[in-house]
Amino acid sequence: MLRSDAEMLVRKTMARFVDAELIPKAQEIDEKGEFPMETFQAMAKMGVFGIRYPKERGGSGGNTTLYCIICEELARGLMSAAATTAMQCLMGTNFLFHFGTPEMHENYFLPAMRGEKIACFCLTEPEAGGDLGNVSTLAAKTEGGYVLNGLKTWVTNGPVASFFTVLCQTDPAKKLRGLNFFFVPRETPGVSVSKPFNLLGTRTTPICELALTDVKVPEEYRLCPEGQGTDNLLAILAEIRSMTAVLAIGLVRAAIHDCIQYAHERVAFGKTISQYQLIQAKVAEMYVDLEAAKLMAYRATHMVDDKIPCLPQATMAKYFATEAACKAGDYATRIFGAYGYSMEYTAQRYYRDNRFLLYGGGTHEVLLPNIARWAGL
Ligand SMILES: Cc1cc2nc3c(=O)[nH]c(=O)nc-3n(C[C@H](O)[C@H](O)[C@H](O)COP(=O)(O)OP(=O)(O)OC[C@H]3O[C@@H](n4cnc5c(N)ncnc54)[C@H](O)[C@@H]3O)c2cc1C
Repeated sequence: MLRSDAEMLVRKTMARFVDAELIPKAQEIDEKGEFPMETFQAMAKMGVFGIRYPKERGGSGGNTTLYCIICEELARGLMSAAATTAMQCLMGTNFLFHFGTPEMHENYFLPAMRGEKIACFCLTEPEAGGDLGNVSTLAAKTEGGYVLNGLKTWVTNGPVASFFTVLCQTDPAKKLRGLNFFFVPRETPGVSVSKPFNLLGTRTTPICELALTDVKVPEEYRLCPEGQGTDNLLAILAEIRSMTAVLAIGLVRAAIHDCIQYAHERVAFGKTISQYQLIQAKVAEMYVDLEAAKLMAYRATHMVDDKIPCLPQATMAKYFATEAACKAGDYATRIFGAYGYSMEYTAQRYYRDNRFLLYGGGTHEVLLPNIARWAGL
């Protein structure tokens, strides 16, 4: 599946970091529930945040596959660390990179690459989740700029963010065609963020609401050309879904690893539980899912890198890998017996953190009808 030396090198480097630095601390970081700043800074030092961007503009000169390998390895260690990094590399900085002014590049994009500023991406509203045509945060045109009003929710990294990429409606009559992205620095008057939400999983990735009240921004803070916000969101959708798929793969790998270790140690009825066929069947199922998910996800990332349209492939990979991660969290808590129900062991974390994958990039109830359409129905 690896098709270049760079892929092998990035995988090795990240795996070494995750094994030595992340896995030994993952339970403690998760319990504390604080933003994983140490990991975030380590990622910055390793040049991870710029992996999708060219060197001549401050990136590390990689591609989507390398980005996804990094996300997968991090998710194997701690889903929260992967989620925060994934946001900083892709959705949080993508629009700034492509459409920001030189001043924004200098003062926000480059510091974000260095880990000095934290980025996030604001699509969802209390009344608009999957249905983005219903986004009502309004960007009203004024002389020389826009005035933004509205409420965003479920903003990953929001509580610690330095700037926001915010989806706004510029012309309600145009629905999806009226949507555009706006750059909003946190210090802008009229910007306020709520307290962090109390979450089921990925508890160290903070999430909050973002309220915009008469927020005045200059014209150049509208990031996409007029009428092209939705097209530019669609342009990174395959990448977002591939990334979600590899996060799921990381979780499945971690669950399989811990289940095998536990099954070899735990004795019941005079034998280690690894010798029972029903335990073996669960591990085998997870392993088959893993192999299939890897093939699907990295086929999609390679297509993204080769500039071949691949929304169906990325969508199916996201769907399949996420369902595999949900199954792996379930199986891990069963294989661990009562200890699967204990916060002292890892299985519970896989069980909770797999939920994180269900929403971003589209819920499965919204994706499946599209997949049926691509199948010809
Ligand atoms: C951990 C986490 C992190 C997130 N981070 C971000 C972020 O950083 N930025 C951001 O903008 N958003 C973020 N979100 C929000 C996420 O994108 C939304 O939750 C998602 O788009 C679904 O929207 P909703 O929750 O409003 O559900 P709704 O769209 O209201 O859906 C509710 C239920 O109805 C189903 N449904 C909806 N439409 C249909 C349909 N047409 N057919 C069949 N069933 C349907 C859905 O599948 C779901 O089961 C995050 C969410 C979570 C949980």
